[in-house]
Amino acid sequence: MSRFNTNNLNRLGNQFNISISPDEDGYLGRECPVESCLGYFKITPGTGVKGPAPCHCPYCGHSGASSTFHTQEQIEYAKSVVFRQVTDALFKDMRSLEFDHKATGPFGIGLSLKVTQGTRHPIQYYREKELETHVICDDCTLRYAIYGVFGWCPDCGVHNSEQILAKNLELARKELALAESAEKELADHLIGDALENVVSAFDGFGREICHQKGAEIRFQSLPGACRKVQEQFGFDFADVLSPEQWDAVCRAFQKRHLLAHKMGVIDDDYVQRANDPGAVAGRKVRVAHDEVTLAITLVDALGRRLFAGLLPATT
Ligand SMILES: [Zn+2]
Ligand SMILES: [Zn+2]
Repeated sequence: MSRFNTNNLNRLGNQFNISISPDEDGYLGRECPVESCLGYFKITPGTGVKGPAPCHCPYCGHSGASSTFHTQEQIEYAKSVVFRQVTDALFKDMRSLEFDHKATGPFGIGLSLKVTQGTRHPIQYYREKELETHVICDDCTLRYAIYGVFGWCPDCGVHNSEQILAKNLELARKELALAESAEKELADHLIGDALENVVSAFDGFGREICHQKGAEIRFQSLPGACRKVQEQFGFDFADVLSPEQWDAVCRAFQKRHLLAHKMGVIDDDYVQRANDPGAVAGRKVRVAHDEVTLAITLVDALGRRLFAGLLPATT
């Protein structure tokens, strides 16, 4: 009779190390362990902070050991791999019990035991999800992907809003460069569009970082936003600009308002508030190339000031 041995099972040991491989784009899925968040995002192993570092959820900012950020699918996959290894080993071990005794003599009874394996335990394969915004962190070079646009870098924990603003301002600069070689009608359109993009980029950026601090502030009108930031956070983000520069950037924002809501036609409100001596109600507003170029530089400075005031780097 053969003896049952558990060599194969023993060989597995009691520690399993299942490696989770990145997807075809090099991304590894991650899931925030916080019950109320469970946000899904992806990172590229090998980029970002060198050596072991805690992982930050880009959505809620929770930080914890990297090993606590496995996705449910990865855990199910790992469990199924372990289960298969155990059941395969068990099967091999059970085969050591097999015997086949032929009948001997005229009245002997032959006995045999054959162990057969049915379907092997299925592996729960998974696919990482497609995400919406791909970012390479300016601070730590981590390559990561998130839903939406804004988020904290999973490696170094810096908020990406300043980087997203810079990227949008760069796109507006490119639009202005295109305008230089376009015929007048298209050039005017590109210049106006660049201005609108600058304002929406700053508005999106400002709202996001205020929201992170629990305040809802809009940034389409600069004097109002400046007052509210001062009331709620106690600093003046306009203090990086000279009074003339502040005037110029406020006027550019008011021109954007006319373009977006009044078909570019000057109204009384603009005449009263924009400090634009040539402005006549009922006429079309003029937006010059240089004016938008300047607005981009000023918005960039305001953005940095606001960011430093609200979400300063903690490290
Ligand atoms: Zn989270
Ligand atoms: Zn980073």
